Amino acid sequence: STQRLEDKLVLITGASGGIGAVPAILFAKAGANLVLLARRQDKLTSVALAAQAAHKAAGQTKGGKVVTVVLDVSDREGVNALRGKIPSELVGRWISLVTVNNAGFVLGVDKIGDIKDDDMEAMFETNVYGLIRMTQAFLKEFKSRNSGHIINIGSVAGREAYAGGAIYCATKAAVRSFSFSLLKEVVDTNVRVSEIQPGLVETEFSIVRFRGDKGAADKVYEGLEPLTGKDVAEEIVWVASRPAHVNVAELFVMPVNQA
Ligand code: NDP
Repeated sequence: STQRLEDKLVLITGASGGIGAVPAILFAKAGANLVLLARRQDKLTSVALAAQAAHKAAGQTKGGKVVTVVLDVSDREGVNALRGKIPSELVGRWISLVTVNNAGFVLGVDKIGDIKDDDMEAMFETNVYGLIRMTQAFLKEFKSRNSGHIINIGSVAGREAYAGGAIYCATKAAVRSFSFSLLKEVVDTNVRVSEIQPGLVETEFSIVRFRGDKGAADKVYEGLEPLTGKDVAEEIVWVASRPAHVNVAELFVMPVNQA
């Protein structure tokens, strides 16, 4: 039997586009309530409307409440204030909470000697510190309720390094290592911790990586069919809906033909 998602509250960071926008739709279809987080309100609003439409089209009677909150996960005060911004109506329905720590990016393909301090710090602030602070914002409550699921989005880059990706690979290795430590820490509770490590996914990610150079961004996908946001979103929902006694600690999913 699977763990039902109806009336659960699902928090997703980086929910305004790319991978993160898709689980929003799938969780809504499955009857969950959502808190969608990212820096761009206009994009968050479109995703929220799409999620509500999907909920309705699926004929779901449970869940379907969607709240958007502008949040830069690298903003410590913003993350600390988040819990207070979740409407009490949703918290009341909070049977169990799933947090998908998805916000992240890579900026540039630079040799180590050329990496700028600002770029290095920005990647660590979002990919690592943001993810850790988001976890801290809810962990105490998860432990005391003896439920909850933290799903961290890592990457193949956290398992295998590539030249020109030193900082990004280091951030994703940190996500992997942090996720395993967290799992050990909650082992005497029913809190679950999962890390999903996708290979190449076709999103804006590649454009950000190549600083807006679309030609270079597209070249990355030559000779293979990249994963889609939907492929990863389905994994996220699958992981979240395993029976309550099953924790998928890590899930490594690559496109066929990606070296
Ligand atoms: P996108 O660039 O398409 O989307 C990134 C999302 O994160 C956007 O919604 C963006 O929204 C949000 N975001 C970025 N920085 C912040 C921040 N500081 N605070 C809050 N939200 C933020 O990338 P993907 O969807 O591809 O990437 C999602 C995750 O998947 C990342 O962690 C990435 O490392 C990982 N990943 C991606 C792969 C790929 O090939 N695409 C492969 C493996 C892992 P906004 O600008 O509105 O804040």
